[in-house]
Amino acid sequence: MHALEAHELYRFFHIGDDETAALRGISFHLSAGEIVALVGPSGSGKSTLLSCVTGLDEPDGGHVEVAGMRLTRRSETERTRIRAANFGILPQSGNLFGHLNVEQNLRLQMQLAGKPNEIRIGALLESVDLQHRARAFPTELSGGETARAGLAVALASDPPILVADEPTAEVDRDTELRLIAHFEARRRAGLATLLATHSQALAHRADRIIGLKDGRIDDE
Ligand code: ADP
Ligand code: MG
Repeated sequence: MHALEAHELYRFFHIGDDETAALRGISFHLSAGEIVALVGPSGSGKSTLLSCVTGLDEPDGGHVEVAGMRLTRRSETERTRIRAANFGILPQSGNLFGHLNVEQNLRLQMQLAGKPNEIRIGALLESVDLQHRARAFPTELSGGETARAGLAVALASDPPILVADEPTAEVDRDTELRLIAHFEARRRAGLATLLATHSQALAHRADRIIGLKDGRIDDE
């Protein structure tokens, strides 16, 4: 049993008469203790795939299994429960609530996953070097601080599977190295990490690279 399995995923989008086939039969797996990098040009389907495997979006065909349990074709409530128990998500657009400071964002995330832990909040802030910014609101953070706070939120519930969409796209070199260190610590701890990335530095740290092109797996 894999941490995550995608079987023959299809996803179509329609705008007016135009149809975009964002995913055209994608299958892959992710094991515990593994870092897998999804790479491919802009528009190749990376974000759509990440949304489908985390249950944020529902594929039009195929199915997803998380720790042996089917995630697809379930009610929104059930998907949310499975997602909270299994995934930490670092979306491209950010995962911080604007009306909560950094520390409150972490606390909320832990509560949503049913794992409140005040001591872990301090440890997480320290691990992303944001102890001094615990009371800052998202609009008060720099780009690098936002990325690190987002990572801390994604890691708050110590998720079996971390999914990150281009986590290093807009960060400085120091922050990129810090993120990579976190991903490698997860590997040592036997946790799974799935990344969409354009960064060669990041892709090279992965155990496997899965290429995507026009919604299909590209073996080259
Ligand atoms: P990537 O993350 O690799 O850049 P995406 O998964 O965002 O690729 O997009 C794959 C394709 O699906 C693109 O052609 C994109 O325009 C299209 N697409 C993605 N989301 C939507 C949507 N919500 N509505 C319409 N088209 C979409
Ligand atoms: Mg994308």
